Amino acid sequence: MRARDLTRYCSDLGWTDALDIPETTVAQAVSTSSSGDDLNRLAASLEGCTRCRLCEQRRTIVFGEGDHRAAVMFIGEGPGADEDRTGRPFVGQAGKLLDEMIFALGFDRPQVYIGNVVKCRPPGNRDPREDEMAACSEFLDRQIELIGPRIVVALGRVAARRLTGSDKPMGALRGRWTSYRGIPLLPIFHPAYLLRNELAKRTAWDDLKSVRQRLSGAESDSRA
Ligand code: URA
Repeated sequence: MRARDLTRYCSDLGWTDALDIPETTVAQAVSTSSSGDDLNRLAASLEGCTRCRLCEQRRTIVFGEGDHRAAVMFIGEGPGADEDRTGRPFVGQAGKLLDEMIFALGFDRPQVYIGNVVKCRPPGNRDPREDEMAACSEFLDRQIELIGPRIVVALGRVAARRLTGSDKPMGALRGRWTSYRGIPLLPIFHPAYLLRNELAKRTAWDDLKSVRQRLSGAESDSRA
């Protein structure tokens, strides 16, 4: 990651104070985790899943992707049409913005892990229902456990509410650190929301800076 490239990305997003990033940053943080084999086995165990009604219209189970030892794990709500088609999380327009947000944090996409609360597309992109999220929760929890991220970032209202257990509006949840199963958790605005709300990008940038600060602090801890 070159600081010059990062500066250009951040300016494109209107994040003009993103200029103090050293060449080697949090991208080299290493997390405690088990092997990628366990994660692959977990993904395989979902094959043909019929635990909830989302199986009826899905094309692909979108398990998640990224570094199985990632320091940062992003969790969205559930696959959309592009993700259902490709089997990969966040590949549509929102995914492009998420890539830039990840880059702004000092990582390339393959260095983080990206997953979702539910692994199958809710029809018409509706919010996943309580029973659908419950059916997927053991897989999400195990995924988090195996990856062992230093930080979990919840993308948007559905993930934020699910992981914080709060039904407060996103405006009240975002930017406030809490924890999920002992791991620092920060809800931030969903990239799809940011695409529609230019002003919220500024707020998202503040939240990303908070993640970066937390990671720099965490870099000196003993987990490796
Ligand atoms: N929105 C999400 O929450 N997750 C995806 O994977 C894609 C879009």
